[in-house]
Amino acid sequence: MRSLFVLLAGAILAAAQTAIPERRVAITIDDGPVQNELKDLANFQRISAGLMGSLQAEKVPATIFINERQLNVQGQRDGRAAVLVQWLDAGFDLGNHTYSHPSLNKVPLWQFEDNIIKGEVIMRPLVEEHGRKLVWFRYPFLDSGMSAEVHQAVLDFLRERHYRVAPVTVDYKDYIFAGAYSRKLRAGDEEAAGKIKQAYLEYVDAGFASAEKISRDLLGYELPQILLIHCTELNSVALRDSIARMRKRGYHFVTLEEAMNDAAYQRADTFTGPGGSWLEHLGEAMGKPVEDDMESGIPKWITARPPR
Ligand SMILES: [Zn+2]
Repeated sequence: MRSLFVLLAGAILAAAQTAIPERRVAITIDDGPVQNELKDLANFQRISAGLMGSLQAEKVPATIFINERQLNVQGQRDGRAAVLVQWLDAGFDLGNHTYSHPSLNKVPLWQFEDNIIKGEVIMRPLVEEHGRKLVWFRYPFLDSGMSAEVHQAVLDFLRERHYRVAPVTVDYKDYIFAGAYSRKLRAGDEEAAGKIKQAYLEYVDAGFASAEKISRDLLGYELPQILLIHCTELNSVALRDSIARMRKRGYHFVTLEEAMNDAAYQRADTFTGPGGSWLEHLGEAMGKPVEDDMESGIPKWITARPPR
């Protein structure tokens, strides 16, 4: 009798353990190496080191999408390019996010293609010196063209240059928190900045829960998620805590390439129109529109812009 109880207890325990789903996510960080830091080299280096150090401490892979515009600062070009070498030396992947972050939905095709080429001038030789290949491209604002013709023309252009488009499935609008956080820091209000950081960390779960549900609804399972965050001061201090939240949800960390081996990502993304996540595009293609509206859930005291 007793041994039956032990067996049963063991079975229940095993069931409870498997109830935590094994989830996978690839972290991608846009607007690298550092967003909106075009003056101060020391700040630029500090924020980049905060991001990279967090990933290294957590032993988590990531792909950093670069805007080379951030490197082109008089008198600081070598110092800024050296940061790219640090990311590569540490084993992280770099991707092209265009030179100056134009929206394909707003600029002419030729201008956008020029911006892609200009966006790899420094990075491509560095990547190749490291024995690696420049593979990933991400659309600024996730805007992939307003017409099927433009969309396809850019895809053809990217394919000729051996790029793959990096989709996004989890996007909790970190940049809104990041902007508010930096404004408070600059105003010397560390207490308010701390509150914003806390609210941001709580929003990580909301972002994942939304993508997980949409994935189950559309595909019947949770695909390996692809997270979009940005190279900001906020993430340079909040990334380790964000990763801890993901681990609690059962996430394991994979490279972008590993995530994209999932069958779901093999379908062509033909979506045109304003931005949106890959899951929203999928819903549209399947005739089951879904909305991953993470913007309206952000507390108003954070989204309110200070009067000018
Ligand atoms: Zn961007």
